[in-house]
Amino acid sequence: VFNFSAGPAVMPLPVLEEAQRNLVALPGVGSSVMELSHRGKPYMAIHADAKARLVSLLNIPDTHDVLFLQGGSRLQFSMIPINLLKGTEKTADYILTGSWGKKALEEAVKEGKTNVAWDGKPTNYNCLPKQADLKLTPDAAYVHMTSNETIQGVQFQAEPEVGNVPLVSDLSSDFMSRPVDISKYGLIYACAQKNAGPAGVTVVIIRKDLMEHASSDLPGYLVYRNHAENDSMWNTPPTFGIYLLGLVCKWLQEDMGGLEKIQKQNEAKAKILYDVIDESNGFYIGHALPEDRSMMNVTFKLGDEESEKRFLAEANEVGLTQLGGHRSVGGVRASIYNAMPVEGVEKLRDFMLKFKK
Ligand code: PLP
Repeated sequence: VFNFSAGPAVMPLPVLEEAQRNLVALPGVGSSVMELSHRGKPYMAIHADAKARLVSLLNIPDTHDVLFLQGGSRLQFSMIPINLLKGTEKTADYILTGSWGKKALEEAVKEGKTNVAWDGKPTNYNCLPKQADLKLTPDAAYVHMTSNETIQGVQFQAEPEVGNVPLVSDLSSDFMSRPVDISKYGLIYACAQKNAGPAGVTVVIIRKDLMEHASSDLPGYLVYRNHAENDSMWNTPPTFGIYLLGLVCKWLQEDMGGLEKIQKQNEAKAKILYDVIDESNGFYIGHALPEDRSMMNVTFKLGDEESEKRFLAEANEVGLTQLGGHRSVGGVRASIYNAMPVEGVEKLRDFMLKFKK
């Protein structure tokens, strides 16, 4: 089937095949990756390779550290304010462009002062703010944004201007789908289960100086510094997930030709579906305004719920699966991350045209 799940999502086939070949015994090692001590040489090499590939793919400068954590992006909703806001007199600014940004704010208010710099609620989160609309706090602890709102399907095309304030971005659903200029960010984070690997590993890329502030009295796991000082081995890391993340990076580098190439492919895939929506005379109703549309999650509705049910059921019958919108918004959502092949998107396009007829 072609699986359009928003996450955990489809994995690149060559990655699954390599993992399958090596599942029982890694060549030259004789044990499964899952059976290796994280302190032993074979696993340390896998860990270092995954990190080096990520650094190279994203062109991560020396000013930043890469951390492999657990707890998903939702733990980051707390760890970020705990490390960057708690115990200061400062305010953290939140730009709310959809459901995930709001959930991030819910956790931040428990840790310190926050300010909503912009909220897309009046238009049901179908667009992004213009620079002039942002009510930013001078000298804020940080500004938080959600690069791609997975549920509503809106995606920033460029970073907002935030001056010298650290920009923090949730890249959970567009990580490694296009190049990013890491030097513009204080911190970015992404759970792996959409574009980078299986659920269970979360990547944090953080500017080194931002780790200095957190109090050592905090629970150890929650302090970024502990993970950075121990090369993400403060406790046992999610070894199998990191191994798969390394294979996904290798696939991006060696099979797909890097992030610029994958971005082109992602743009082309998204255009195929948005063209069907735009040319449907209102039969398919896109959620996001055209200029703010996501390249990763294409969200739309049909005129009534009955037709949507039929659409989803008939799509499922022809092997186009997991197309239902998030339970909070309904409708249809086609998640077309890096690993969704062009053929899958073309098959969905043909189905949409036929269904409309
Ligand atoms: N942020 C975004 C943009 C997401 O899409 C998701 C999950 O779908 C999350 C955060 C939460 O991630 P997790 O379930 O790994 O905590």
